[in-house]
Amino acid sequence: MSVVPVVPPPPGEAARPRPTVAVVGAGAAGALVALHLCESAVRRRIPLDLVLVDPAPEAGRGTAYATEDPELRLNVPVGGMSCYPDDPDHFRRWLCLHGESTVTARDFASRYRYGSYLAGTLGRAVIAAHGTVSVRRLRTRATGCADAADGRLEIGLADGTTVTAHSVVLATGPAAGGGDWAPAELVASDRFVPHPWTPGVLDALGTSGDVLLVGTGLTAVDLALVLDRPGRTVYAVSRGGLLPQSHTVAPSPSVPPPPGLAALPLPLLRREVARHVAATRRTHGDWRPALDGLRPEIGRLWQGLTDDERAEFLGRDASLWNVHRHRMAPAAAEIVARARAADRLRVHAGRIASAAPREDGGLVVSLADGRELRVAWVVDCTGPGLAADAGGDPLWSGLLTDGLAAAGPLGIGVSTVRGRLLDGQGGRERPLFTLGAPRRGELWETTAIPEIRVQALEIAQSVLAGLTGAHGGHGDTDRPTGSGSGLPPVPSRAPSSLISDAFSISQ
Ligand SMILES: Cc1cc2nc3c(=O)[nH]c(=O)nc-3n(C[C@H](O)[C@H](O)[C@H](O)COP(=O)(O)OP(=O)(O)OC[C@H]3O[C@@H](n4cnc5c(N)ncnc54)[C@H](O)[C@@H]3O)c2cc1C
Repeated sequence: MSVVPVVPPPPGEAARPRPTVAVVGAGAAGALVALHLCESAVRRRIPLDLVLVDPAPEAGRGTAYATEDPELRLNVPVGGMSCYPDDPDHFRRWLCLHGESTVTARDFASRYRYGSYLAGTLGRAVIAAHGTVSVRRLRTRATGCADAADGRLEIGLADGTTVTAHSVVLATGPAAGGGDWAPAELVASDRFVPHPWTPGVLDALGTSGDVLLVGTGLTAVDLALVLDRPGRTVYAVSRGGLLPQSHTVAPSPSVPPPPGLAALPLPLLRREVARHVAATRRTHGDWRPALDGLRPEIGRLWQGLTDDERAEFLGRDASLWNVHRHRMAPAAAEIVARARAADRLRVHAGRIASAAPREDGGLVVSLADGRELRVAWVVDCTGPGLAADAGGDPLWSGLLTDGLAAAGPLGIGVSTVRGRLLDGQGGRERPLFTLGAPRRGELWETTAIPEIRVQALEIAQSVLAGLTGAHGGHGDTDRPTGSGSGLPPVPSRAPSSLISDAFSISQ
């Protein structure tokens, strides 16, 4: 059941045409965009109809925050997960009000609680915006998006209906993983779990039988925690064989890197980053503050690299970067360490070469170096696909084929300018936006809440500015507190006059 209240326009307003904004995807990113749209529309007195499209039962949960397993915790401390970049304490206060009175900004809350926080905060914003913003929630998938009359966009829905909107935000999250590493025999096996976060899918794994996790990142860590049982061995295999590092219980504040890194070619950038990390270790006794200080700069550094350098980074540096940057909560690290010490969790570097069914229904999986693992189940923990249409989603495939979207650098995600999609010709006239994972080719670090919440705020401002035809609106000027891209603003072309016209008839 959705906890986002559906708020129709007040009586007498129903007949007055108001601009429609459609947000496709109601996971964390879509919920944050909807929240900032509601709050900013009220402040700026901009009436609008907001349509939130997602088949999921509850807004705000998406893939990450739907799990009810209390052992699965956030991998970012409470102080980093507020909906509001300029009010970092907001989530902590919400937890205090909802039964966790002693929680601190350094704690790691449960993922389910975080989904409840997003849904609850959005719900309150929707109610507070009543009279200015009407909200419709459509529990279906968007299957296409095309140009419509008057500069608007028409979204095709899986239930055969359409929504025509003056502005569309695609908050669809990461594309499904391609699973291209998996041999055909494995893909064909009913003992292969390709999407571990599909609700209920892990129930089949039961409480016994050894399991092979392919991938050793945060998803593998989650699965190792969930599947850990006496008498069961969980294997985790990836090319590097490296598990994520752990957060510390008492982290030091981040240390910003020296200025000027964005202008450096990759070899010099590596050297300077290594110096920054070494210096921070000397002064703080820990490398983590150095990485945390680099994080807000990543978009700028990534954009300073050539495509060849980015490809080299992906081949040589990305996996080391990932294990240090995407860290696990200290409590998760403790459980992992215990499971490894007891030999219930075995982590290997290796590549899957082949798989064959066993007589008892399990699988024999062979690694490229000749080792064999005999397991009951194999779970794909390799993470999302990099191309926007990697999972074969018809919405993104259609946008790319029809030229409304263009693949991002190295074919990763899509090209945008501050979240506004570039089309196949490099134009950005359409009121079509995206955030989070689809911007990975452009920004590299864009999939976690600290980045997504800033992008959501920026996109809400851009959408409202497009609807009014000018920045500033009627009331106070909402200024985003930071830049999701970490980049200087790029002047955009004048918004389509047809959109401004459509808004003026609703006044
Ligand atoms: C297991 C896990 C744990 C994580 N933990 C953290 C953490 O602790 N801290 C942190 O900062 N980040 C974490 N992340 C990163 C996470 O990606 C982001 O925090 C955030 O949840 C991403 O939200 P999203 O809305 O972009 O994507 P998603 O969560 O994938 O949500 C996308 C939504 O869009 C909907 N959708 C997709 N396509 C369509 C369509 N065509 N039509 C309609 N609806 C559609 C889906 O149904 C879904 O509800 C985690 C990620 C995972 C996978």
